Amino acid sequence: MKDYEMVIGLEVHCELSTETKIFCGCSAKFGGAPNTHVCEVCSGMPGTLPTLNKKVVEFAVKAGLALNCEITRKNKFDRKNYFYPDLPKAYQISQLYLPICRNGHVDIETSSGKKSIGIHEIHMEEDAGKLIHDEDTGMTRVDFNRCGVPLLEIVSEPDFRSAEEVTAYLAKLRDTMQFLGVSDCKMQEGSMRADVNLSVRERGTEKFGTRTEMKNIASFKAIERAIEYERERQIDLIEAGGKVVQETRRWDDEKEYTYAMRSKEDAQDYKYFPDPDLMPIEISEEYLESVRESLPELADAKRERYMNDLGLSEYDAGIITGSVALVKIFEDACAECDSPKDVSSWILTDLLKLYNDNQTTPEDKPYDGKKLGTVIKMVSGNKVNRKSGKQILGAIFEEDVDPEKYAADNNLAIVNDTGAIEPIVKGVLDSNPKAVSEYLAGNTKNMQFLIGQSMRALKGKADPMTVKAMIEDLLSKMG
Ligand code: ADP
Ligand code: MG
Ligand code: ZN
Repeated sequence: MKDYEMVIGLEVHCELSTETKIFCGCSAKFGGAPNTHVCEVCSGMPGTLPTLNKKVVEFAVKAGLALNCEITRKNKFDRKNYFYPDLPKAYQISQLYLPICRNGHVDIETSSGKKSIGIHEIHMEEDAGKLIHDEDTGMTRVDFNRCGVPLLEIVSEPDFRSAEEVTAYLAKLRDTMQFLGVSDCKMQEGSMRADVNLSVRERGTEKFGTRTEMKNIASFKAIERAIEYERERQIDLIEAGGKVVQETRRWDDEKEYTYAMRSKEDAQDYKYFPDPDLMPIEISEEYLESVRESLPELADAKRERYMNDLGLSEYDAGIITGSVALVKIFEDACAECDSPKDVSSWILTDLLKLYNDNQTTPEDKPYDGKKLGTVIKMVSGNKVNRKSGKQILGAIFEEDVDPEKYAADNNLAIVNDTGAIEPIVKGVLDSNPKAVSEYLAGNTKNMQFLIGQSMRALKGKADPMTVKAMIEDLLSKMG
């Protein structure tokens, strides 16, 4: 068999987290009872006119700048005409000729090193509705809530050569969008969807092979499986003397295979033309500058800063900056207790364990970072021991308790009152006469044992240094 190389290009759709839709005032929120987020405009009534939501332009420019794109200073909308029951206007308002962003790149890292993936363009468009097929009645219903929700379509160059590169890129895109606050990019809710264009060619040849497109695959894992399957399918086909047909295929993640959906339309099939209802968008220098200034610190910059200024290891910094929700917990905790290394160690060892054990994520179950900071302060200030600290951490996770109140209610505070400790330590010395007499005879190693026994008797709720001083004092009186 010949040596084949895979070539992949991605079209990623991100639903923008604006309050309202792109061309009307309806809510752009996910979900809602069917057909409750609809009006004349987004349900395609004749005679209605679109009004562009400025936030969409701002979010598109933000994304473009963060993904190193050129911003098209004069861009416009076009109509993409096609009939489908989830598209009541029978055209989608999109951008073909002058997309808002072009020529960007995303830098990724995989096990084979660093690589830059080109972004061909990013354009703004509106989402379509949803068809709901009812198996029982055999009927299909349509929900227009999603009609007109703003989307960014991010089109990459055909720069990927492996599934690993694809998932690294998608993760980077998702993180960037989330840090920018422009999209929550939840694949499971469909707010991030990827179309995978894939072809194979003999390694070393220049010319691309014929590609197929797999639409809307719903998770990273499914994307990896679909890529592997489609690569093999195309190679087998070519090896058997056949030809790959340019078409749209659907990936069935349960049955693990792709099947032809329709032969692929070319742009001309959509009879694109400039939308006569919308003015071209002019982006001024001042506007561009103001958006540039509003950009938040992104994951890469944060990771560098955590390492260089806060002293975190590359690994720790990488894990924390891999999630917007974790970054928030980390930064809120640091603001409270001002010891970043402690915070990162609590997050990595204790907090992430809680998330793992409960099979959830900081995105789905937020954690109050300020309270984590308080727990860390309580432990480092010897108000509670580490074990109790972990217990409080868990109680915050479960019920968002107030750490100080919880410690008091559950009797976790370390006793620093020597008057309260002394009788207990004395009791330990009395019940261990052998260890005491050996110590007095010069076996100083027994001190550790006596401290241990005392701490146990105190249920850990004392400062070991205080206990040690007390034992020394009591023994010196005996000696
Ligand atoms: P369309 O908009 O008709 O789907 P485009 O030419 O805009 O097609 O390309 C869509 C995606 O397909 C882009 O991400 C591009 O990089 C990728 N692509 C184009 N040609 C190939 C190919 N031969 N093999 C793999 N991917 C390709
Ligand atoms: Mg396409
Ligand atoms: Zn509407």
